Amino acid sequence: MSSTGLYIHIPFCRSRCSYCDFATGLYDAELANRYVSAVVNEINSSSVAGAHVDTIYFGGGTPSLLEPAQLDRILSALRDRFDVAPDSEITLEINPGSVNEAKLSGFRQLGINRASFGAQTFDDRELAKLGRSHTAADARRTFHDLRAAGFDNVSFDLIAGLPGQTFDGWQRNVDEALALAPEHLSFYLLEVHSGTRLAQHIQRGLQPEPDEDLAAVMYEWMLGRASEAGYEHYEISNLCRPGFESRHNTKYWTGEPYFGFGCSAHSYDGESRRWSNERDALKYVELIERASSPIIEKQFLTDRDVKAENLFLGLRLMRGVSRDLCKDYETDLERFREAGLLELDGDCVRLTRSGALLSNEVFSAFV
Ligand code: SF4
Repeated sequence: MSSTGLYIHIPFCRSRCSYCDFATGLYDAELANRYVSAVVNEINSSSVAGAHVDTIYFGGGTPSLLEPAQLDRILSALRDRFDVAPDSEITLEINPGSVNEAKLSGFRQLGINRASFGAQTFDDRELAKLGRSHTAADARRTFHDLRAAGFDNVSFDLIAGLPGQTFDGWQRNVDEALALAPEHLSFYLLEVHSGTRLAQHIQRGLQPEPDEDLAAVMYEWMLGRASEAGYEHYEISNLCRPGFESRHNTKYWTGEPYFGFGCSAHSYDGESRRWSNERDALKYVELIERASSPIIEKQFLTDRDVKAENLFLGLRLMRGVSRDLCKDYETDLERFREAGLLELDGDCVRLTRSGALLSNEVFSAFV
C-alpha cells in the first residue's frame, strides 16, 4: 500500500515578490499565532487521520518565518493523528535571510531533515528587481548556516528567464549554485501571472518581456552543466544527486495520496477524490475558529480522469510511463514522437529534452 504525504501551507512572507501569485501575505505575529492554532485544530478534527505517512512538507509563503515552537505544535499534532514513519522526509521551505544558525538548529531538532531553499538568483540586481527581501550574500550565509545546523539534504530553487537576465549572468548563477553543491536543484522558467506587480511593470514598459527562446537555451545549458557535475535530471524542473529525489513531490507525479492542511492546501485520496481549502489566510482562520469546514472545493474523478492524470503527471518524470497508460492516445503519441517531443523505449514512453521544454503542449493533449 502506498504511503501518504502531508502538506502544510504557511501563508506569510516578509515582503511580496513582484512575480508571486501564491496564497501568501505579509507576516503578522498575531495572525501567525492564530493561524498555527487553526492548523492544529484542522489536523485534530480531520476525518483523514490514521494513514501511514512518510513525507511531510511545510511550504508557503515562508514557513521559516515561524518559530521552532510553532512548527513543533503542528508536527506534534500530525504525529498524534497519523502513523508518521521515523525515517520520514520532513521538508521546510526556507528563504535566505529569514533564519540564523540557532533557529535552524531548532528546526533540525524537531526532525526536519530537508531544506528547500529559495535562492532564485545570485545576482543582487535581479533579486532587487524581483522584490526579493534577501541578497546573494544572505543566500550564501544561510546555506552555510544550514550545513552548520546539520542539514545534509538541501534543495535550491533557481529561476531562469528573468527580464533582462543575460546568458552570461545565468551561467554565473548556475555555477555559483553548483559550487555550493546542494543535494537537489529546482529550476523554474519565469512565468508572468496577470495581476502581479511584474505583469504590470512589463505592461507599462518598465521591464522587458521575458525572452522565451533565451530561457530555453538557458535550460538546455543548465541541464548539461548540472549533469557534468553529477546531478540526475529526474523531473522536468528537478535535478538531484543520486538518491536525493524529493520523496514528497514525487507523490504528486505518481498519483500517491497526500493531505494538505492550512489555507489553499490541496488533498488527494490517491483514488478518486480531490479537495481544497479556502485560499485566504484570515478567512481560513475564521472558518476554523467557528468550527466550520475550511474545504471550499471537492472534485470527484472518473476512471478516465484518473488515467489521464496518471499519464500527464507521470510524464513529468524523465523515467517516463508505461506505454499501457497511453493506449487511448495512440494518435497523439505518434504525433509527438514524430515531432521529437516524446520517445519510445520498449514498454516506456518518455519526454525528450525538447519535449520537457514544450511539456505544456504535450500535456494539453491528455487533459
Ligand atoms: S517568498 Fe515566495 S511565496 Fe513569498 S512572496 Fe516571494 S515568491 Fe511569493
